[in-house]
Amino acid sequence: SNLLEDVKARVRDVPDFPKPGILFKDVTPVLADPHLFGRVVNAMAAPFRGRHITKVVAVEARGFLLGAPIALALHTGFAPARKPGKLPYKSVMERYSLEYGDDGLQLHEDAVSRGDRVLIVDDLLATGGTAAATARLVSKLGGEVVGFSFLISLDFLPGRERLGAEKVCALLSY
Ligand code: 5GP
Repeated sequence: SNLLEDVKARVRDVPDFPKPGILFKDVTPVLADPHLFGRVVNAMAAPFRGRHITKVVAVEARGFLLGAPIALALHTGFAPARKPGKLPYKSVMERYSLEYGDDGLQLHEDAVSRGDRVLIVDDLLATGGTAAATARLVSKLGGEVVGFSFLISLDFLPGRERLGAEKVCALLSY
């Protein structure tokens, strides 16, 4: 059957989460289906096969759920980008602005090495602020951001252009 149709049927729209007026795309029903989960991981990895990726960096927290199996599929290492104060070892930090206030992300300073070819993974691309901050962390450590792989891209927001459209892959676009 058609992967995009199957994923679309499983992504759950949750109104007013986490705030009134926001329609949240819930991907947990996709992960709950053992066959679909595997097909999604393969499809998110596929555009980056043969691109000599050496590391997958994924964003807390739903990005981890997709990034770790994608790293296994691509035979690369994995590194978590986490919210400030969560990583135990020496880390680099990047701040980014949200609709209300700002937030930050950290990477261990040895999570990415100079010359690493990095794929950044998250469940959903909205404004691109989160993924752009992750890309700056990778660059700070001397890694090259080869591309971004998302399960979902909200294409009515400027995330794709912000990251460089040619570097962005998304299974589903809304
Ligand atoms: P951005 O920084 O691109 O505006 O927001 C993307 C980040 O917010 C991602 O880490 C993503 O997990 C989270 N996010 C924002 N909206 C949604 C949503 O509707 N569904 C899911 N699953 N994550 C979202």
